This record gives sequence, C-alpha cells and structure tokens, in this order.
Amino acid sequence: MEYKKLAELYEKLGATTKRLEKIDILAKFLKNLEEKDKEVLYLLLGDIYPEYDERKIGISSQLAIKAISKATGIKTEDVVKEWKTIGDLGKVVKKLVSQKKQSTLQAKKLTTEKVLENLRKLPELEGKGTVERKISLITELLTSASPVESLYLIRTLLRDLRIGIKSSTVRDALVKAFFPLDKESQKEAAEKIQNAYDISQDLSKIYELAKKGEKVSSIKLEAGKPIKVMLAQKAKSIKEAFEKVGKPCAIEYKYDGFRMVINKKDNKITLYTRRLENVTKQFPDIVNVVKSNVKGESFIIDSEIIGFNEKTKEYVPFQEISQRIKRKYNIDKMIKELPVEIKAFDLIFYNRKNLIKEPFEKRTKLLRKIIKSLKFKISVADQKITDSEEEAKEFYKKAIKDNQEGLIFKNLKAPYKPGSRVGYMIKLKEELKDFDLVIIGAEYGTGKRAGWLSSFILACLDKKIDKFKTIGKMGTGIKEKISTNIGGTSFKELTKILKPLIIKTKGREVEIKPKIVVSVTFQEIQKSPKYTSGFALRFPRLTALRPDKSPSDVTTLDEIKKEYEAQRKK
Ligand code: AMP
Repeated sequence: MEYKKLAELYEKLGATTKRLEKIDILAKFLKNLEEKDKEVLYLLLGDIYPEYDERKIGISSQLAIKAISKATGIKTEDVVKEWKTIGDLGKVVKKLVSQKKQSTLQAKKLTTEKVLENLRKLPELEGKGTVERKISLITELLTSASPVESLYLIRTLLRDLRIGIKSSTVRDALVKAFFPLDKESQKEAAEKIQNAYDISQDLSKIYELAKKGEKVSSIKLEAGKPIKVMLAQKAKSIKEAFEKVGKPCAIEYKYDGFRMVINKKDNKITLYTRRLENVTKQFPDIVNVVKSNVKGESFIIDSEIIGFNEKTKEYVPFQEISQRIKRKYNIDKMIKELPVEIKAFDLIFYNRKNLIKEPFEKRTKLLRKIIKSLKFKISVADQKITDSEEEAKEFYKKAIKDNQEGLIFKNLKAPYKPGSRVGYMIKLKEELKDFDLVIIGAEYGTGKRAGWLSSFILACLDKKIDKFKTIGKMGTGIKEKISTNIGGTSFKELTKILKPLIIKTKGREVEIKPKIVVSVTFQEIQKSPKYTSGFALRFPRLTALRPDKSPSDVTTLDEIKKEYEAQRKK
C-alpha cells in the first residue's frame, strides 16, 4: 500500500479530538484495507510488530536529526535550530523536506511495505557502524518521502505519533467496520475483540480474522507470550472490600514487590513484567527456582516478586529491589546483594489448558498443588478463606507487621480477566502513602548539580480527557551520590534516563516525553492554580522509580481529588 494513504489517514485522525469521529474515520479505513496490508495496523499504533514483541524502534532525537540532515542536505546545527523554535522534529522535517522538494522531484513512491522493512531492520542492528547504518536506513525512507510522509516517519521513529489512537480506539473501529450495527451485538463484539486482544496483543491478527469473517475467539492463549495482567480495584475498609468480592472470599497478603508473569513452554521459562517486558535475562535466579520447584509441562503463573535482606531475613520495600528490573549487567552480584522471592498468586494456564474462565478457587487450589515451597525462594501467597471481618482485621495487621502493604480480597467464583480492573481483586492498603506520577518536565541544576536535571515536574492522569496534568515539582528524595548498591536513585541516573526523552529545551527548562513513572510521597495535597491539575503536592519526595509501571497506570486526577477530600475531613 502507498504510505501516502496512511499519512493521509494520520492527518485526518490527528485533525479531530473527538473519539467517535476518530472511530468513524478508522472504521472506513479498515473496511477498505486489503488483507495483504494487515501489518499496516502496527504502523497505525506507531509500532512495527504486535505490542508484545520486544523489537521496538527506539531512535533518539539526536539520531533522527542526523538522518534529517543527511536526507535534506541541511546542516545538523540548522536542523537543531529549527527544532528549538518549532519544538517538534516531525514538523521540522516536514518544513525542510518541502523546501527541498521544490528543487528535486520525489525519487520514488514510498510504500508501507518498504517503511516496515527499513524500520524493522533498526532494532536488529548491532556492533560497529550501527549508527551509520541506522542513519542510512532512515535517510533512504526520507528521500522518497513527501513532506507529510516525512513528518509521520519521524514521529514513528520517535515513537510519538500524536494522533490520539490507542488499541481501544482500533478495537471499536474494528467493531464498527465488521460487526452488525445493533447496539447489543456491537457490545458483545467489542468484548470478544477485547478478550482476543488481551490474550494475543495483536490487532493485526484480529483484523485479519474479522475481515475474513472468521471467529476472533479462535485466538488461543499460549504460554511463553506476554499477557496483560488482571488489575485490582481499591477499597477503603474491610467491610467495603467484602461487599465488593462477596462472602466468603480469599484474602491474601498484598506483597510490596513487583508483578511478574512466569511462563513455561517447551522446557523454557520466560518472565514478563506487567508492562509486557521480557525480563528473563535479569532474573536467572527466578528461572532456576521455577525450573526445579514447579511441576508441569507448560504454565502461566501470576506472581509478585519481593526482596529480602539476606542477613536479617526481613522483607524489604519494593524500592530496594527496583533496580533489578532494568539491570542487565553484573547480574550475579545483584542476585547476591538483592535477593528475591517469588510469591505466586494465580494460575492462568496449565498443561496446555486455558484456565482464565475457571473460578479463582479452582485456580488457586491447583496452584498450591504444583508449587513446592522453598523458604525465601518460592511459595504461594499467604491466604485465608473467610467471611469474618475480625479475622480479616487480624490478617491485615499481620501483613503490615511483616512489612507488606496490606491485603488483597479475591472473589472465589471469578474468572481471570486479563488487562482489566473489574473488581475481582480488591486491594486494601494504608491510606495516603504514595502517588505514582509521570515526569513530564525538568530543570537543569546549578552549582554542584550543574549538568544534571535536578528538579522534576510531576503529572497525574486526567482520565476523562486522557491527558497528563501537572501537580508539582520534585527535587528531594534523590541522591547526590549512591555509595552502596542498595536503595536510592541519583540525579545522574535520572538525568541519564530522562535525557533521551527530552522533547523541547528552553533555557534550563526541558519538556520530557511522559514515559518515566515514579512513586512519590508528600506531606499534604493543596489546591493550587500553579499546576494544571489544580492541585499541588507539598514536599513531594521520590520513593522509587517504577520501571514496572507505564504512564497509563499513574494516579488519576479523580483519585487525587478523593484523597484531597479525605485529607480535608481528617
Ligand atoms: P496496585 O499496584 O497498587 O494497583 O496494587 C495491585 C498490585 O498488588 C498487583 O498488581 C500486584 O503487583 C500486587 N500484589 C501483591 N500481592 C498480591 C496478591 N496476593 N494478589 C494479587 N496482587 C498482588
């Protein structure tokens, strides 16, 4: 297919902020899309493979600038200059390409196949000369691109399409394009597509089935591929938690660690985070423990990974082990310094059988049968099945005493619902602890902190309009230097993580792509006109980087309003 057509679609989608209009435009496009062009759906979401695939583009602004310079013959300094005034590299390349196009004719027509072919080579490149080869792959595309095409090519490369399309928009467009028009059947179709997507994370595959008129429910769950995990709703009291899940229910410790989905297929163990990142390499210790302590030829186990202190044998808070998620070198040392234990709590697939429709009581029973507990290595979550509020209260106290966060209440009859917060699991934890917020801006420091980003603009999510809203500036909780391996985040580390995400620079201030999530504590929430959320956190303090969470997981504005009200009542 001509890339031009896709660029036109991007333009149309970007021109409206209304979701329903976007769905209409997309539905028409999908209806006319030919099956051979099914992979265009990846490009539509700004990707090159299905969501679960780890091969992502990941090009820095610097590299994009070099490619733009090479393709247009304009010096990098001049590209940077334009970037500083326009602020969006996509718009920059559009301007520069259109200036150039007046003198030269477009060499050949760009197709979506060619775009995918070149973009897919990018993550494969390694070793010497990688940068040059990347630049020439991009330059090749840019020289055949029209101004509008070049804009979307660059935005795709920077993984920031800015057309307001999410997988749920594509899901609803698929329903509109391929399913009957009455409301009931559409609702049912949306659910089926969502289920298929939660299992496969592959909209192109779902489109293909829908286009052929085949059942989307024929997509089967398999071990070894990442799956979106089921999420928990909140309760404020034990009573409310019971009301939500019914009596009796299972209550379990809410461990203070990070989520991990453990897969076994063909004798191979694969580990994923809740963001679908493959972290098998980072955790050879877990792989070994699972290999020798879990029975079964294939499975998908949902679990929480928690850290403990080797000497005191006490469990430690999440932030002390958070570095293990990203660390890819010196792993043996890390395993010794920051040992972890698996607390398994659900079983989604076992010996080639999909268990997501089975009731929790059955899944948890089977889970207990297949795991051989080994102290400080692996066990199944501490659990009680009860209808007594008294007993729940005691259990809650015990969980807190054991350095865990609280309790999770689970509906015994409920299925496993990947990717949704349906209320089959209810969390109960200490109030007003942390907010998870995303960093969207920062400021370079001065004096001792010169060269480092040292103050960070935090944002929450306004779910109603799907936009981030600022809520404060944070400069504490971050270390000048980290002397031991245990605990803490330094300015240097944060700067290193955030620098490639800078979108715009103005003096010492920078705007940052919303990607990095942090847990933040604070003394109080205040009303404030200074920030777009209308609130400000008093004395925000970093407690941990949350590489396991994505920006869509951050605390919402509604939750903040609620906390504000609760705080006022106190
Ligand atoms: P939150 O991250 O605050 O939304 O709380 C839900 C999280 O608690 C889940 O995503 C898990 O990572 C974690 N968790 C800890 N213990 C359990 C448990 N026993 N069952 C389910 N989730 C748990």
